[in-house]
Amino acid sequence: MPVKIYSNEFSVSTRGETEIIDITGRVESCVHKSGVTTGHVLVFSPGSTIGITTVEYEPGLKKDLQEAFEKLAPRRASYHHHKTWNDGNGYAHVRASLLGQDRVFPVKEGKLYHGTWQQIIFIDFDNRARTRSVTVQVVGE
Ligand code: ZN
Repeated sequence: MPVKIYSNEFSVSTRGETEIIDITGRVESCVHKSGVTTGHVLVFSPGSTIGITTVEYEPGLKKDLQEAFEKLAPRRASYHHHKTWNDGNGYAHVRASLLGQDRVFPVKEGKLYHGTWQQIIFIDFDNRARTRSVTVQVVGE
């Protein structure tokens, strides 16, 4: 069977400041629309102050993750980036680079394959509200 490549995108409105948003359902819906039964799905967002990963999506762990990022790259620390642009979001760029902006998941039996307690999350580290775009590419047969 020929390999199918299906591309779609959706937007995410965020408040910034390391807000964590569950995008699992929206990725699942792209996989469903693709008609691919076996393959993989790439989830990517263009931006240098965001991140994509997985987590057990529950309030305690959301806070734990936010606190961990605060320890890794504290918001109020001094960043060389501020001398370049004076935009005050050096911490957001550092957090985003450590996490990455893409993840790949298997598609099995026509479904996004992930653990029951493993949701796909979008994190906006920037210091202001933003509207972001997420691209989903499903490849397979
Ligand atoms: Zn910046």
